[in-house]
Amino acid sequence: MRDLTTLPKTHLHLHFTGSMRPSTLAELATDAGIRLPPALLDGQALRVPAGERGWFRFQRLYDAARAVVRTEAAMRRIVREAAEDDAAEGSRRLEIQVDPTSYAPFVGGLTPALEIVLDEARAASRTTGVEVGVVVAASRTRHPLDARTLARLAVRHSGDGPGEVIGFGLSNDERRGDTSEFAPAFTIARQAGLASLPHGGELLGPDHVRSVLTHLGPTRLGHGVRLADDLALLEKVSEAGIALELAPASNVALGVYPTAADVPLRTLHEAGARIALSADDPLLFVSRLTDQYRIAREDHGMDDAAVAELARGSVRASLAAESSKRHWLAEIDAWLAS
Ligand SMILES: [Zn+2]
Repeated sequence: MRDLTTLPKTHLHLHFTGSMRPSTLAELATDAGIRLPPALLDGQALRVPAGERGWFRFQRLYDAARAVVRTEAAMRRIVREAAEDDAAEGSRRLEIQVDPTSYAPFVGGLTPALEIVLDEARAASRTTGVEVGVVVAASRTRHPLDARTLARLAVRHSGDGPGEVIGFGLSNDERRGDTSEFAPAFTIARQAGLASLPHGGELLGPDHVRSVLTHLGPTRLGHGVRLADDLALLEKVSEAGIALELAPASNVALGVYPTAADVPLRTLHEAGARIALSADDPLLFVSRLTDQYRIAREDHGMDDAAVAELARGSVRASLAAESSKRHWLAEIDAWLAS
C-alpha cells in the first residue's frame, strides 16, 4: 500500500483558527494569560461519546480557541504553520478560510486583520512551496450587512496569486440565519470574480442545499455530504461542476453520522460527486488532511486507484491555474505508478 502522506493533493476546506496545532494553542493561551477548557488540551476535543458531540460543544471549544488569537504574531504563526503542516501532508495548494471580524479588534480593524493573513499567506507560499489562497468567510450568526462589508473587503484584495483572496464563504451553524439574506453579499463577491464557497448540506439536508444553490450560486459546497439523501439533486450539483468539500471527521465529530464508516463517501463517489477531502478544523476534530484519505482507505475499503481519484478530485476542484493542476495530476499518476 502506498503512503497517503506523499499522495499529491489539495486542501480546500480549512478554517484559520481550526487549523491550529494543539501545541500552538497551548502556547498562545499561556502568552495571553487565558485558561483553556481541558477538552482543548487533552487531545480529545470532539472525540467524545456520540451523545456529547454536536454543534454546541464544537462552538464553545472553537470560541475558546479563537479567544487566544490576539496579536499579529499569533495570526502569522497560524497561517505559517497551516502551510507547513499541509506541505508535510503532500498538499500542493491550501485554500484557507478566515473571518477577520474576530481578530480585527486586536490589530486595528478588518483591513489590517485580512492583510496580515494575506501577507503571511504570500510568505508561506514561498517558504513551503504550498500555494496558499485565502477565502474570506462571513458568519451566518452575524447580520447580513456585515457579510456585505466583508464581501467588499474581499473584493478589494481579490486575485489569483498566492496570498490573494480567491473566494467568499459563509460559515457557522447552518441552522442560523436566512440563506436568502446573504445573497447580496455573494452577488458583490461573484460580480468581482470571486468564487462562491458557502457551507451547506452538513447539519441540514437537501432542502438547505437547494436554498444555497438558489441564493448563493456556489462554485463549491462546504460539505454537501447530505446530498447522499437526494441523488437526483446530487446529479444536478455535479453536472453544474459544483464540488463537495467533504470532511468526514467533521461529520462524525458534529454527530451527523455515528462513525467514519457511516459517512456516505462511497455513495457520493460512486454517484459521480466531485469530491475534495478536507480536514475543516483539525484542532477540534483531531484529524488532519491525510487522515481523511485514511478514512477512505480504511473505513470505506477504497483501493489506491480510488484514493488517487479522490486526490485528483481535490486538484480539479481547486481554484489553481490550469497549468498547476496539470502538473499535480501528473504527480498523482506518478504516485499511483510507483
Ligand atoms: Zn467548515
